[in-house]
Amino acid sequence: MFEHLNAQAQDKIMALMVEYREDPRDTKVDLGVGVYKDPTGNTPVMRAVKAAEQRLIDTETTKSYTALAGDPAFVNALSGLVLGDAVEADRLAGAAQPGGTGAIHQALELAKMANPDVTIWVSQPTWPNHLSIIKHLKLPMVEYSYFDNDTRAVDFGAMMSDLDGVKQGDVVILHGCCHNPTGANLNLEQWREVTELLGKKGALPLIDIAYQGFGDGLEADAAGVRHVASTLDEALIAASCSKNFGVYRERTGLLMAKTPDEKLKTVTQQNLTHLNRQNFSFPPDHGARVVQMILDDPTLRADWESELEDVRTTMLALRKQLAEALQARTGSDRFGFIAEHRGMFSRLGATPEQVNAMKEKHGIYMVGDSRMNIAGLNKDTVDILADAIVDAGV
Ligand code: PMP
Repeated sequence: MFEHLNAQAQDKIMALMVEYREDPRDTKVDLGVGVYKDPTGNTPVMRAVKAAEQRLIDTETTKSYTALAGDPAFVNALSGLVLGDAVEADRLAGAAQPGGTGAIHQALELAKMANPDVTIWVSQPTWPNHLSIIKHLKLPMVEYSYFDNDTRAVDFGAMMSDLDGVKQGDVVILHGCCHNPTGANLNLEQWREVTELLGKKGALPLIDIAYQGFGDGLEADAAGVRHVASTLDEALIAASCSKNFGVYRERTGLLMAKTPDEKLKTVTQQNLTHLNRQNFSFPPDHGARVVQMILDDPTLRADWESELEDVRTTMLALRKQLAEALQARTGSDRFGFIAEHRGMFSRLGATPEQVNAMKEKHGIYMVGDSRMNIAGLNKDTVDILADAIVDAGV
């Protein structure tokens, strides 16, 4: 029977990781996979995570099942971090998920159950996993313009004009902050305009927030999602703790649904719970419990926030340093966008040939669409990258 299976294309970023590992040059620079790396190239376990895990080992008395929607204390704590007080408790359904990916998958399944004729709208470009999950679920998809390849900023006029085509009951995926792969983001005024348009059209926003705290800070990064969730009657929000708590492999995420009234909250909650049961039954608990312990303990939380702030400012400093290095080499401000972008990624705007030349000649590994993981740099490798960018004629 297995002979009927089709071969699956290898994930491009994973393939790049292998290529990097096999490159013998000691000046090579890995700007590929989206994990945070400190200046020594490590992806550390955050201090508060270690402390919470130790406390958990010392105090945990059972590994029995939790609840199908996850531990309610985790749902409360993480929804509080993401939404603040934007949504009243009796309007918010939520279920823990295996990572942000699990939350997005579940959100799309829920949308399909609610509207069998749903079309999913995604930014062009978007995180490739959005596209493959949508394809896997056999959902119709439309791309909306997002990134201006000349300015390397959001082409907001084109985005709004494309989104004018959404229909009632369509789902529009928006990146809550730190857009992956471009690094170009909506400002609050633009969030307001998008919210108004979606409200007018009766479309459902699905906000993917995977980098809260990596852009302008925990509160500022949540401003868009909070505006949407407090303004519209309905919204889906998929949150990931992989990056901002550094718990990548623990698979920690949350799907939230803002509902128009208490009755629909109950029904939506039942459906979220039902989907968990069908797909994996109980969501993973370790990462969720650690996150909840940190968020609910003032000392652990303060330490986590302070370490996250160091992560954020380290990336911002690297952005500034790279933009300045390129300014010095080219005598122009055309790379100033690198300091304007936010989050872990920036799309450089290089051609595939230029990306390849930077790899072959300089050992710079970035994704083929010229997405760079800024956290893959340190103060010494910024110059290697700046030389490579100029040498490749970007
Ligand atoms: N959304 C986006 C845009 C992402 O970049 C990521 C992480 N690469 C995620 C969601 C979710 O990641 P995870 O499943 O590891 O939590």
